[in-house]
Amino acid sequence: MIIVLKPSTPPEQIQLFEEKLCSDYEVKVNRWDGVHSTVLGLIGDTHTVDTEYIDAQDIVESVKRVQEPYKKANRKFHPENTVVKVSENVSIGDGSLHIIAGPCSVEGEEQIVSIAKSVKKSGATLLRGGAFKPRTSPYAFQGLKSEGLDLLKIARKETGLPIVSEIMRTEHIDMFENVDIIQVGARNMQNFDLLKELGKTNKPVLLKRGLSATIEEWLMSAEYIMAGGNDNVILCERGIRTFETYTRNTLDISAIPIIKKLSHLPVVVDPSHASGKSSLVEPLAMAAVAAGADGLIIEVHNDPPHALSDGAQSLTSKQFDAVAGKILALKEALK
Ligand code: PEP
Ligand code: MN
Repeated sequence: MIIVLKPSTPPEQIQLFEEKLCSDYEVKVNRWDGVHSTVLGLIGDTHTVDTEYIDAQDIVESVKRVQEPYKKANRKFHPENTVVKVSENVSIGDGSLHIIAGPCSVEGEEQIVSIAKSVKKSGATLLRGGAFKPRTSPYAFQGLKSEGLDLLKIARKETGLPIVSEIMRTEHIDMFENVDIIQVGARNMQNFDLLKELGKTNKPVLLKRGLSATIEEWLMSAEYIMAGGNDNVILCERGIRTFETYTRNTLDISAIPIIKKLSHLPVVVDPSHASGKSSLVEPLAMAAVAAGADGLIIEVHNDPPHALSDGAQSLTSKQFDAVAGKILALKEALK
């Protein structure tokens, strides 16, 4: 971290400031006295240094981080890839490709069990289904709630597929005890209380990128979970808000190699929410696999025109079968 001090700062004040930095943080301070101003270089563990506090000091002209503000999620401090073990047969980040498939919302037992069976046949290795739904309108279907989680467990029992479902409230963590991967949706990516509580568990967490979150903000949210002791974080790129209105969001393909460079955490891509259109799911899924994604999360519905949420972006089981076939063939070809 580089701190430029204001010109003509008295040497005694600089001395006091240096001493305070060394006592407050685990850093050493290097000092360069120039003709007009003095520059301090902080060396050591600067992750906990509050740049806003530094910037607010009267003698400080400017402050700049030269190291990323996240540590546990940072590849520099953990060069090997993190592999998140979800079940006996499912480890995400180990070089294999996992497809998480299922409806946006769990709507009933027959629906979720039949979709689970069909996506499994097509090659999916995990089942998704929303029980608590974050909807833009309070009048839209809000999910079957705890009953939805129970139905997912029935589908898991029938198929053996681990289940993935979205949590919205800290108070619900106990209810998700028996869910294999807890999804934190885009709207809750910066629900810091929720992230902290999930950090106290050892559950795999699928952390979706916020609607307008930078890659650094997204990694800082992962850091919240990891700072609590839970390293089982899987990042999910699900498209970001841009000026383009043709698609629901804009899939940031570059996020995949960027995350791979900056972090050791696995990355899953959601082409369904990224595009909002079922016809775009296949090409975006292929692009994500080619760019190095560790997995995909794809919405599949038994009757998309009558889905209670996200019908327009949902594939039928038949369409999913064709898409999964191509994706898995591409993965093979890339080996
Ligand atoms: C979902 O997975 O159904 C969902 C609501 O996703 P996102 O948080 O990415 O919008
Ligand atoms: Mn959805």
